[in-house]
Amino acid sequence: MLDKETLKILVDKYPVFKVKDINANYIKPIDLYKELRKKEANYTVELAGKSIGKRDIFKVSYGSGKTKVLIWTQMHGDEPTSTSAILDLLNFFEDKDDIHNLKKKIKENLTISIIPMLNPDGAELFTRENLIGIDINRDALRLQTPEAKILKEEFDKFEPQFAFNMHDQNCYYTIGNRDKMPAISFLAPPFDYHGSINSGRIKSMKLIVELNQILSILQPDSAARYKDEHEPRSFGDHFSSRGSSVILIESGNSIEADGKEFIRKLNFLLLLAAFDTIADYSFINNDESHYYAIPENKERMFDLILRNATLEKFNQSFTVDIGIKRTKKYDINGERFYYTSSIEEIGDLSTYTAWEDYNLEGFSIQPLKYFYNENSVVFSYNSVRELLKKGYGFIIDNLQSDSMVYTTLPINFARSIKSIDYPAIGQPANTMFSNESNEYYILINGFIVSSKDLNCLPNLSNKIKNALIFD
Ligand SMILES: [Zn+2]
Repeated sequence: MLDKETLKILVDKYPVFKVKDINANYIKPIDLYKELRKKEANYTVELAGKSIGKRDIFKVSYGSGKTKVLIWTQMHGDEPTSTSAILDLLNFFEDKDDIHNLKKKIKENLTISIIPMLNPDGAELFTRENLIGIDINRDALRLQTPEAKILKEEFDKFEPQFAFNMHDQNCYYTIGNRDKMPAISFLAPPFDYHGSINSGRIKSMKLIVELNQILSILQPDSAARYKDEHEPRSFGDHFSSRGSSVILIESGNSIEADGKEFIRKLNFLLLLAAFDTIADYSFINNDESHYYAIPENKERMFDLILRNATLEKFNQSFTVDIGIKRTKKYDINGERFYYTSSIEEIGDLSTYTAWEDYNLEGFSIQPLKYFYNENSVVFSYNSVRELLKKGYGFIIDNLQSDSMVYTTLPINFARSIKSIDYPAIGQPANTMFSNESNEYYILINGFIVSSKDLNCLPNLSNKIKNALIFD
C-alpha cells in the first residue's frame, strides 16, 4: 500500500501535475487531442480507431512490465472526470524528478494501456450515448457501435489481467441510508446473475478494499459500493466473465467548492495507488470480505425537495413533498450549460434527501400566471423580476426563433398557454407557493426563489440558472 508519506507528497504536489487547460466538467475532443499530441515524445500514442462521427479515438501506452492494465474513460460522453485525471497522470509520469521510485516501480512492473475518451462524439455533445444514440456500455455483446468494437478488440489483443472501467455516477446516490453523496463508488463487476466469485473477481475485491483504505485517508466516509446486479451487456461484467479483474470506479460528487475538480484529484491518487499495489501484488493480502463492508449506493436523492406544501384538490387539502431532478445539457452553439427539469415524485419523500431542501409548511401550491406580451416588449432582467414578483412564470410570446429551447432570463417563454395548473409527475417543474402572510416561492424550471430573494438579491442568475422556451 502507498505509504502515508508518499501519499502526502502526491497530494501536495498534485497542482504541479494537474493539466490546467482541462476542466473536469467538460472536455472537448479537440482539447484532449491537443494534450495527447504533447505526449507523443514520451509515450506511444496510437490511433485505436474512429467513432461513428469519424472522430479519433486514441490509445496511450506506458511501461513495459509483465502485468497488463487496461483503462478506458468516458465511454459515456457526459462523464469526463476520469479523462482529466488520466491527463494529469500522464503529466506525472513524464516528470523526471518527483517520486522517482514509484514511477520506476510502475514502469518496470506494469504495461498500462489507456483509451481516454472512448466516446468522443458524446463528449462533444455532452451526452451519455454515442452519436447514433446507443449506450456503448450496453453494446458489449452485440457490438453494433464502432466504439464498442474498438474496446473489445483492444481487450482481446491485449488480454489485460486488470481492467479499470472509469465513469461518473449520477448525482442522486447516497452512501447507504446516510444523507451524504459518495465521492467515489466502486464495483467488482459480477460475471453472472448469482454474484459468483472467481479468482479474477476476488482480486478486484481485494484491490477495491485497498483503494477504499486510501480513499478513507484522503476523504473519510466518502466511498460507496454498487450492488451485485449482473448486466451481461456491459463491458465491466463482460470482461469480468473473461477472467480479467475489473474495477469500476465511478466519480461521484462533492459539495466542496471545486466539486468535480476535487474528485478528479481523487481519481489521480486512487489510480496511482492501484498501480503501486498491482506492481508488487501487495493487495493480495487484503481481506476481500471488507469489500462488502463498504456501504451500498442507494438512489435516494433529488436535486430539490419542496416539503410539506399544501395541495388543494377536489375540495380537500393534502400535505405533499415534491421531488425534482434537473438534467444538465450542453448548448454547443452558445458554449454553455443549461438545465431542463422534471417533477419525479409527489407525496411522502421523508425517506429521501436532496441537494437543496425547503420546508414549505403553510404554503399552498398555486399555478403560475401567464403574461401576454402583446406589445412585443423586449424583456430585461429587471422587468422579468417585476413579473416574477406578481406571480408570472410564463411569457406568452410570438417567438421568432424556434431553434432555442432555453433562455438566460429567469422566466419561461411559451408560444401558447400550457394547461397544467398543478404539479404532476413527469412534467417540467414550474409552479408557485404562497402563504397567508403574502410570502411566496416561485419555482421556475426546477429552480426556486423566495419573495425575499426577489426583493433583496441583486442577481438571480445563481438561483434560476435558466428557464425554458416551450412551444
Ligand atoms: Zn457511465
